[in-house]
Amino acid sequence: MRCVTAILLSFLGCGGAAAAAPPVIHHAAQIVLDPQTHEVRIVDRLTLPPGLAALTVGEGLVVEEITGAPAGWQPRLVEDEQGRRQVIDLGPLGLDQGGQAVLSLRGVFHQPTDQVSFSRENVGGEITATIGEEGIWLSSAAGWLPGADGALHTHDLTVTAPAGFVSVTQGRREVIAPDVTRWVADHPSDGLNLVANRFVVHEEPVRDGVTAYTFFLEDDADLRATYMERTRAYLAMYEEMIGPYPYAKFATVENWFPTGYGMPGWTLLGSQVLRLPFIPTTSFGHEIAHNWWGNAVFVDAGRGNWCEGLTSWSADYHYKELEGPEAAREYRRNLLKDYYAYVKDPAADFPLRDFKSRHSGATRAVGYGKSMMVFHMLDRQLGRERFLAGLRRVYAERRFTRAAWDDFLAVFGEAGGFEPAAFAAQWLERTGAPVLALGRVEFADDQVAFVLQQAAPPYVLDVPVQVDGKDGPRLHRVALTEREQRFTLPADQPVRLAVDPDYDLFRRLHVQEVEPTVSQTLAEEVPNVVCGDPALVQAARAFGEAFTDGRWFNLLENGRPPRDLPPGAYQSNLVINPAPAVAAEYPRPELTVAGRTLVLEGRRYSLDEYDLVYAAANPAQPEVTDLVIHCGSAARLAALGGRLGHYGKYSWLLLPAGQGRVLRGNWAPAASPLTAAR
Ligand SMILES: [Zn+2]
Repeated sequence: MRCVTAILLSFLGCGGAAAAAPPVIHHAAQIVLDPQTHEVRIVDRLTLPPGLAALTVGEGLVVEEITGAPAGWQPRLVEDEQGRRQVIDLGPLGLDQGGQAVLSLRGVFHQPTDQVSFSRENVGGEITATIGEEGIWLSSAAGWLPGADGALHTHDLTVTAPAGFVSVTQGRREVIAPDVTRWVADHPSDGLNLVANRFVVHEEPVRDGVTAYTFFLEDDADLRATYMERTRAYLAMYEEMIGPYPYAKFATVENWFPTGYGMPGWTLLGSQVLRLPFIPTTSFGHEIAHNWWGNAVFVDAGRGNWCEGLTSWSADYHYKELEGPEAAREYRRNLLKDYYAYVKDPAADFPLRDFKSRHSGATRAVGYGKSMMVFHMLDRQLGRERFLAGLRRVYAERRFTRAAWDDFLAVFGEAGGFEPAAFAAQWLERTGAPVLALGRVEFADDQVAFVLQQAAPPYVLDVPVQVDGKDGPRLHRVALTEREQRFTLPADQPVRLAVDPDYDLFRRLHVQEVEPTVSQTLAEEVPNVVCGDPALVQAARAFGEAFTDGRWFNLLENGRPPRDLPPGAYQSNLVINPAPAVAAEYPRPELTVAGRTLVLEGRRYSLDEYDLVYAAANPAQPEVTDLVIHCGSAARLAALGGRLGHYGKYSWLLLPAGQGRVLRGNWAPAASPLTAAR
């Protein structure tokens, strides 16, 4: 599987293996699935390239026979960083110089799927293989087809499923008989996933050689039309942006347990996720973009995963650009806010080159966020046309093979005006982010002079500086290369100067640039759940467990957030129904709470109709964010902990006690220390 998405929050992770010019194994396999016995039987005719030392098969498979193996032969079981697997040494079988081999395998899989839930960090429950009346899922992680370290695969599969079941995997679809489907995938991929269920199948031609499919568990004409339309739109968008779509089909497949997987030429979305209204215009496009980045051009994982940053640039960010410059700016600002919140502790930071996959807020903030900002800075530096031309060239040259960061940088380097080694040293090899400071600013009638500072060793930065003068705002770019530099810009009656006002640089934000948000408390290692109401303590515990996703938290039953700790020792407090004296420590100019009434940004609400959650600076240590929660019901409080993860970027939420929309918004950030006015 290329990519695993927790679609609600657009988390994805690419897999991958080592070294360029990978060997390719061809599989011509017969697959028979039996949900009643939970069994899969496989006869795989393999065409092996020369030079492979061994094949590997998942632990759950029984290898019944392999060509040329003596009686009583058994594969050996190993455990390494890839997990427990069976290894078939090809040397003794005379297959290390390549050739044909036939493997007969069978396996029984029945992992329960009814407890799988979608959470921030547990993506799709990691069900690797299950075969039952409720559905069939075989992921490449189960090792159900033989593989080899670093090898890619092509496939010609004939799948026999019981009456009523329809199978889906990658490749071209050919229905042989009602219960038999052939799937031919000519292009190499690094693993094969297969699903089968009682699908209603629809297909539409997209263009010559490409078909769009929906495989839904129940027919739904409106939903089908939405996904068909989006499939067409995204394929057209990326064919124009990057190059021809590499596969014969794109299939949107509904899953009976929660997943958000993107694979070559298809996506597998849980029933609930599939029906979330924002999915077709957000995560779905990200999954489709992965067919160019990640599925067709593979990640050379030993040399860093560039694929999530580039897919985020091509999809999530690009859609914001199409909305307008304000939306794009807000998207970049949110990425920097995420880095600020999740990578506070230098120990959590790491060089972008070391990113492999997302497994925490910090790995997401670097592997997705910083990576996306690095592509944005390349785009700014090269200009859109040259940047896109570089992407098209990498796609054309590296299709169906692995690519590394350096392949992109080399191509951009040839475009000119750009030094790949220096760029890689500061953005890929170096941990952290520049911190900019604005020194003395002197406004004159015809110019503005100012000092920019940064920590040592200095980054080389192309810093945008906006000067507002008589003729309106003007954007300049200055080259900052030293720890401290003085610049002078011409201006007519300048009145205001702002450094990086649109968040074009990847940098660590100042505390004043970041308004308190829910995500800053989600990022906390061990938050305090503060609840002084004995009737709510049990619900507060459930709230804490869901909020921390099963991690540790402190439950403080005295209702008082800790004070008088040494500097740096404060943790986020999640303060539930605070007494008036405690609430008064979290003043926000936009908010007044009096009894059961609150006024928020000029509007009046009742706490009988809404629960209120808002983020505010910790009174003792303003870099720490606390959360204040006014909740009128134990049941709603218990459920709230799991909901807040979906609203991380907001400062305040009003959650209706009954049905209705969650109202939300952000506090205005304080004045940035990177601006100065006359
Ligand atoms: Zn992704």
